[in-house]
Amino acid sequence: MILAVFSAFLAAGLSVAPLPSVQSKVKSACDRVVDQAFAASQRKLESGLSGGKGFWEDHSTFSNPYIARTDHYEVRTCQSFGLALRTANEMEEMLVRFQDVLGTDYLPPARFVVLIFPTLEEYNAFGNTHGDQHSSLHGSFFAPEAPDRPAVTYYTININLTRLRKWVTHSAFHQFAHAAFGRSVPSWIEEGLACYFDMQWARPYAVSKLPELLRSPRSLRLRNLSQFSVDNLNDEVMIEIGMLLRYLIEEREDTRSPNGGEDDSEGPFTAYLRAVYRGANFSQNSAHLALSRTPDAIEADFKSYDFKSP
Ligand SMILES: [Zn+2]
Repeated sequence: MILAVFSAFLAAGLSVAPLPSVQSKVKSACDRVVDQAFAASQRKLESGLSGGKGFWEDHSTFSNPYIARTDHYEVRTCQSFGLALRTANEMEEMLVRFQDVLGTDYLPPARFVVLIFPTLEEYNAFGNTHGDQHSSLHGSFFAPEAPDRPAVTYYTININLTRLRKWVTHSAFHQFAHAAFGRSVPSWIEEGLACYFDMQWARPYAVSKLPELLRSPRSLRLRNLSQFSVDNLNDEVMIEIGMLLRYLIEEREDTRSPNGGEDDSEGPFTAYLRAVYRGANFSQNSAHLALSRTPDAIEADFKSYDFKSP
């Protein structure tokens, strides 16, 4: 039938423009969709990459680093855009953990900034100018007095990714707590929580290392927690205090959170933490009372506790 009509046109001497086939229409529509998607992803990547300056610049010095931005983090590094973006995404996940444990939905009004310097020298130079608690013995610090109030660390060829993640997480927690609550709290709580969160990247290692640390005569005494100082921190103490916080948040029967700290539900110990950070009254909190009245008993339980999962 169609052929007959077409033949009739021809027979009448009428010329017709060739119609595009369905196949070619579909192909050009697909091409447009792919082109648009590619252009959009390129724009997005370039804007996240370095403030819209383009793909091909030299990012080998910290004056012009790769910059990755997610909803709440901006990470600057000379290493690669991939590392910057991965770190920013990982900190988004950690931000939810910070919120859950401290029972807040606080989000920063501007992105949290994370600086990953390419050398120890540059990290130290920045720390000497801006680092309240900077020490080259620690791999990261939070700089509340510096522009953008960054979490600061460094990453060189002989540092593994787990260590970098721990460092960034540790100082990102200080950064979060400072922004969300702005209150100075006892060091064992502030550092304990920072260590608890940074330990998330190496839980099996912390569990395997703990028994040996607890046998040491220098191991933590719960009766002395109020004298805990940031100056005491070294790799061993960080594991011990981080594991103590884990014990109280996730494991111990009369202090833990209902879902083992996996969501924002409140247990006796997290209720205590939340009150401390808010400046609220915690004098009747059961976890606080137990820690202040029977520290030796809790310490003995902690030291003999069998952490079953990593
Ligand atoms: Zn710290």
